[in-house]
Amino acid sequence: MSEFNLNSKDFYGALNTDKLLGSKCKVCGYQVSPQRAICPKCQSDDVEVVELNGKGKLAAFTVISVPPTQMAEAGYSGKNPYCVGIVELDEGVRITAQILDVDMFDPPSIKIGKPVTMTTIERGEGENRRKYLAFK
Ligand SMILES: [Zn+2]
Repeated sequence: MSEFNLNSKDFYGALNTDKLLGSKCKVCGYQVSPQRAICPKCQSDDVEVVELNGKGKLAAFTVISVPPTQMAEAGYSGKNPYCVGIVELDEGVRITAQILDVDMFDPPSIKIGKPVTMTTIERGEGENRRKYLAFK
């Protein structure tokens, strides 16, 4: 059993302690992250919170140089692009997150299948400042 609950607030709470949460369906075994109260595969609500090991590989990515407002406010732009990727975790869970430590100006150098490990990145100002999931 995890000390965390199914609500999404706990997903960010766990990130603050560098833990990646997901949920596992007790009926069909499907895992998803962030955690959900209803299994997206079989619609069962018999799910439990699990801590994922945070390791996986890069399944897809895109480099963004025209950021949405929130990311522009965080300092990203055409001169400072960022990478968003889909990571397939060891548990088989796919999750979208920012990818760090890659060459944004040379996207072909970023390889699909590259092993990645979870980390966090802080964005936002004042009360809105919090850790977000990232991989490197
Ligand atoms: Zn299920």
